Amino acid sequence: MDYQKILNDIYNEVIQLENNGSIAEYIPELAKVDASKFGISLIDNQQNIYNVGNATENFSIQSITKVFTTALIFSEIGNDLWKRVNFEPSGNAFNSLVQLEYENGIPRNPFINAGALVIADLMLEHFEDPKTYFLDFVRTLANSKSINYNLEVVNSEKETGFRNAALVNYIKSYGNIKNNPEDVLDFYYHQCALAMSCEELAKSFQVFSNNGINPYNNERLLTSSQCKRMNALMQMCGFYDQAGEFTFKVGLPGKSGVGGGVAAVFPNNYTVAVWSPKLNKKGNSVYGLETLERLTTITEASIF
Ligand code: GLN
Repeated sequence: MDYQKILNDIYNEVIQLENNGSIAEYIPELAKVDASKFGISLIDNQQNIYNVGNATENFSIQSITKVFTTALIFSEIGNDLWKRVNFEPSGNAFNSLVQLEYENGIPRNPFINAGALVIADLMLEHFEDPKTYFLDFVRTLANSKSINYNLEVVNSEKETGFRNAALVNYIKSYGNIKNNPEDVLDFYYHQCALAMSCEELAKSFQVFSNNGINPYNNERLLTSSQCKRMNALMQMCGFYDQAGEFTFKVGLPGKSGVGGGVAAVFPNNYTVAVWSPKLNKKGNSVYGLETLERLTTITEASIF
């Protein structure tokens, strides 16, 4: 498969499409990003890298980090994780509060904000210095020492994150947050403010296409059963209330973020990451979805 040609063709076609999306303005620091950025990186199962456009430029990967925190906690505590958070699609917006009351403070899944805040609480429970531990963890997955938190994005989210503050306090009222809500939010905002490139993202997702083994150091992070479950979660919940459409049109497990990033996995075949900041109404990158739909259509291959 000539991935470089396929990516070049997709890039040249998609960049000409009208993009009615808008940049994530509710986080002021993200609103400053150049909306015309567009990059794609695909890494095959031999770790060959195929890039096009702004594929090596850093951006705020936001909710894509929820995959990393979930994988880390899953590898630490195994199935006890499911006592704190469920594994069902939400069918609701990423920042919705509505299901929490009916479901007694147990978030539907780890990828909506409510679930990610519970995972952030578990990070604080299990690691003395969770911010440093988490950063090292992602650097190891991405095989890159230069990845860092963008502190301007952290502060911008802190100043405007009233909904996340509501979520964490509400979940705490059910006893499903153990730490101080301020500390949980502080970790969560750092997590979301991780800055990475498409190439680094595609590298860091290799572990999920490689049955739970990080191919860059040959260490096992997840059992193959846990890896299967991470991919199942991405398939069911990675795009919130657009997860069905993503499955229908793309057919790969994946995860989006409001920085305009999308990362996806074709187990035992490739990982791919796209960055284009303009989002649709569900908070997912317009060009990101378009690119991946074309990729699985042209290659005539997906997990289905
Ligand atoms: N930090 C963002 C928030 O909490 C993450 C949302 C996202 O990427 N979907 O709203």
